[in-house]
Amino acid sequence: MVGGALPRLEDLPDPRGKRVLLRADFNVPLSDGRVVDDMRIRAALPTIEWLQTAGATVTACTHLGRPKGHVDPKYDLGPVRGLLGSLAPGLELMDNLRFDPGEESNDPEFVRKLVEGHDLFVNDAFGAAHRAHASVVGPPLHLPSAAGRLLAKEAEVLGGLLDSPRRPFVAVVGGAKVSDKLGVLRALLSKVDRLVVGGAMCFTFLAAKGHGVGESLFEPDQISECRSLLDGDTPIDLPSDLMGLGPGGEVRGLGRSVPEGWKGLDIGPGSAAEFADVIADAGTVLWNGPMGMFEDPRFEAGTRAIAEAVAATRAFTVVGGGDSAAAMAQFGLDNEVDHLSTGGGASLELIEHGDLPGLKALRESPANR
Ligand code: AMP
Repeated sequence: MVGGALPRLEDLPDPRGKRVLLRADFNVPLSDGRVVDDMRIRAALPTIEWLQTAGATVTACTHLGRPKGHVDPKYDLGPVRGLLGSLAPGLELMDNLRFDPGEESNDPEFVRKLVEGHDLFVNDAFGAAHRAHASVVGPPLHLPSAAGRLLAKEAEVLGGLLDSPRRPFVAVVGGAKVSDKLGVLRALLSKVDRLVVGGAMCFTFLAAKGHGVGESLFEPDQISECRSLLDGDTPIDLPSDLMGLGPGGEVRGLGRSVPEGWKGLDIGPGSAAEFADVIADAGTVLWNGPMGMFEDPRFEAGTRAIAEAVAATRAFTVVGGGDSAAAMAQFGLDNEVDHLSTGGGASLELIEHGDLPGLKALRESPANR
């Protein structure tokens, strides 16, 4: 596996009677002081239950939103604490880590405060594992440390994709910005057998091939980079047709080129069928990023077709990134995926760099020796 084996819960010294510091990812969406989606909280329960059953007292810590180093009532963990009271009785929860500037600056003093009074450290926050923040990389310097169930599973599945994927290995990428994902695309092209590109990202590639993009979102300064990716050895599939929004608000199918005044907002039905065929024939599929502006029902068909193809294929399927996971859920297909990653940024950075600060810190914990 990438970077070597992670220490697991079973590798910890006997947790009976011990005080465990758990870095969790309870960065959940809130509205009117209520937790709107508790998926991340539920995902941490197996680790909490394992530790409590083993006789440990568990104190969790998490960030919530971006309070930028000072106390902000908007990001108070009250609603999360309330929900934990019923889902995980006996679990203590510290204040929002990002209320203290020491969290993001990885201040050793803040690390010392975090670990004080604790005997063991468990990191189960995959969504934060790509950040070298105090609560992610600090505690393993002081306490015997292990990966929780969720973190271990994410690292195993995503690491496995890079080490020994069932072939053909197809990556399907979409979403808005190509510049955000160029590093990942480069890394992917050396691993996959085929790269399928949809979403607004496809317009920079189409422009690189000389097609008109009209008013579509695209990044002129990335065209030459896209051209060099297209010139590489790994085939890149681009849409052969599109759905567009016209200057008068009309919606219709377009070819590969977008006329002046028009905006491409989804892949067309021909492309959706071609991409679905590639997904059906794959051994492994990694999907990240919607094929169009799927929040608008007029432009959801392409993303829906990909979601359905991912659900139906016999390939091993991994869906990463908040928007693709949200799309699978929107279409009621989230149970039809082999692995739904809880961390968008973290999963892409793991693919790009082959490791993450949070994983490395656990593997190299001096307190584990
Ligand atoms: P990202 O955060 O980069 O994964 O981008 C996700 C967002 O990209 C979603 O909100 C989509 O609505 C948007 N998106 C996808 N395709 C297009 C498109 N062709 N034009 C504009 N926005 C798009």
